[in-house]
Amino acid sequence: MELETHEYDVLVIGAGGAGLRAAIEASAAGVKIGLICKSLLGKAHTVMAEGGVAAALANVDDRDSWKVHFADTMRGGQYVNNWRMAELHARESPDRVRELEAWGAVFDRTADGKILQRNFGGHRYPRLAHVGDRTGLELIRTLQDHGVHRGIDVHMEFTVVALLKTDGRVAGVVGYERDRGRFKVFAARAVVLATGGAGRAYKITSNSWEGTGDGHALAYHAGAELMDMEFIQFHPTGMIWPPSVQGILVTEGVRGEGGILLNSEGRRFMFDSIPENYRHQTADNEDEGWRYTQGDKNARRPPELLTRDHVARCIMREVREGRGSPRGGVFLDISWIKKRMPDAEAHIRRKLPSMYHQFKELADIDITREPMEIGPTTHYIMGGVRVDSDSQMSTVPGLFAAGECAAGINGANRLGGNSLSDLLVFGKRAGEYAAQFAKQNARIAIDPTEVQRAVDDAVNPFERQSGTENPYAVQTALQELMQNLVGIVRTESEMQQALGELGTLTSRAARASVTGHREYNPGWHTAIDLQNLLTVSEAITRSAIERKESRGGHFREDFPDKLQEFATINIVTVKSPDGTMAVRRVPIPPMPPELKQIIEDQQK
Ligand SMILES: Cc1cc2nc3c(=O)[nH]c(=O)nc-3n(C[C@H](O)[C@H](O)[C@H](O)COP(=O)(O)OP(=O)(O)OC[C@H]3O[C@@H](n4cnc5c(N)ncnc54)[C@H](O)[C@@H]3O)c2cc1C
Repeated sequence: MELETHEYDVLVIGAGGAGLRAAIEASAAGVKIGLICKSLLGKAHTVMAEGGVAAALANVDDRDSWKVHFADTMRGGQYVNNWRMAELHARESPDRVRELEAWGAVFDRTADGKILQRNFGGHRYPRLAHVGDRTGLELIRTLQDHGVHRGIDVHMEFTVVALLKTDGRVAGVVGYERDRGRFKVFAARAVVLATGGAGRAYKITSNSWEGTGDGHALAYHAGAELMDMEFIQFHPTGMIWPPSVQGILVTEGVRGEGGILLNSEGRRFMFDSIPENYRHQTADNEDEGWRYTQGDKNARRPPELLTRDHVARCIMREVREGRGSPRGGVFLDISWIKKRMPDAEAHIRRKLPSMYHQFKELADIDITREPMEIGPTTHYIMGGVRVDSDSQMSTVPGLFAAGECAAGINGANRLGGNSLSDLLVFGKRAGEYAAQFAKQNARIAIDPTEVQRAVDDAVNPFERQSGTENPYAVQTALQELMQNLVGIVRTESEMQQALGELGTLTSRAARASVTGHREYNPGWHTAIDLQNLLTVSEAITRSAIERKESRGGHFREDFPDKLQEFATINIVTVKSPDGTMAVRRVPIPPMPPELKQIIEDQQK
């Protein structure tokens, strides 16, 4: 079969922050770049990011530095992060943010004209550069404006279905146009995966339709290792009402601006349980918490701004113990600040414009006057493709990964704002090293039988005739399964049950059929996404079974404590030669003394 073929030195899959930043950097190195994305350019999930990008610019609090940011990130990730990535991220993110500003990003300003920074959970000082609560939009707009002038070829509404390899090295990809259904091949010396997250494996999620873990699954099937897949971030504050908007994010910026969490008794329950390692940094009374949100350098952060894993679990506790809101969540209240500040309503509308409109339009709630009803929502996957910390190359030569689809920087829990900075820092690095790889390695031939196999697999749902399954029904069953059995609170028996049911769903997915033509066929897209979601869900479940302790986003009711045995390892999943998924523990390399010292200094 002869397919239309494009040739590039570096091919980037994904046009979110990581993909765009990688493409810009690779093009600066003078190589030929192709950029592929499932949706239209400008519509990648990054555009939804709200609260800000974390970087120790020290504009609002001059005590901040890369060292404090590094220590905060490691503490937030409960020390199973790739410490070198956490170091690079903390050191380089200020330059990446300033560069974005030089490229035209219009951040909110301090009174003296510097980039304004706001408070966010787990960050010791105000650190998130932001544009109201629409930071992702500005980030994408700026990168896109900058990128389009650099001669990057963009292929929109195109889904990659397989990575092609020759002699163990990546040789290109195959995929199809989502509108016309035509298959194409892209040959490349280096491929950068920047495909984002996998939240669509769960029923309640803040993720866009694109978050089906494609990059994770593509890399896995190409022989790359996945790491930390058990660590899923359940963001504490998603909308829970009405049902049609369940899961949509309510930015942590609400709490950063002074929003408080209340149970059905009207009590501020977050003061009830403050983890020991955060106690010295956390306010022990409401007045101190309020002063912190208003920039008092002598005050400590309110407990609502503890890390997301902890806040989500506290909310679940209130609900389970019968103190939840009528629809099974708790209340998030920003309107109370009118007791503390004149003109509070206008202030809320100015600082949180999207949240104001989101609740007004979708739930008929005026957040300047009444509390919001919220509950945890699947938000982010800390796990992803295992990469080299400096170059972002995976264990497959020529295959790079950056952004949410890569693992390492966040450990067991990501701090808010650290994703946008991750995209910039490691997107740049992936682009730089992919270009270098492309210059050093000749193009390799693509094996036509591999292409044929990928196309046959992709069109298979059209061929199935009898005893078939509806892909939507299988996808819904999968999302329910992951939500119920591998969710915020996990146990061995439920996860073993989930593994068994995943096997059944895999068989059902193999019978998923679609009718009609390949043009504009959403049922077909769903059948293809489903394969990725199943791979990712199996990796999450197997890794979560293997980690017999609780850490960060991974909470085991049967092993509620952190265990030393797991403090020094990451869990890796890889495809075995017989096609089954293997799980192994990989030791974390020892941290250099100077980084250890930074962490110790920050604990004081
Ligand atoms: C509502 C919301 C608010 C958030 N707010 C913040 C915040 O304030 N600060 C912060 O740091 N983080 C925030 N996050 C997290 C952050 O936005 C994401 O982690 C980040 O944007 C992911 O960026 P990315 O470049 O890795 O991927 P994405 O932006 O998800 O882009 C993925 C790209 O890959 C493409 N793609 C995927 N699969 C394929 C395929 N098979 N073939 C071709 N193309 C493919 C997609 O089309 C898309 O272009 C937020 C997340 C949500 C949901």
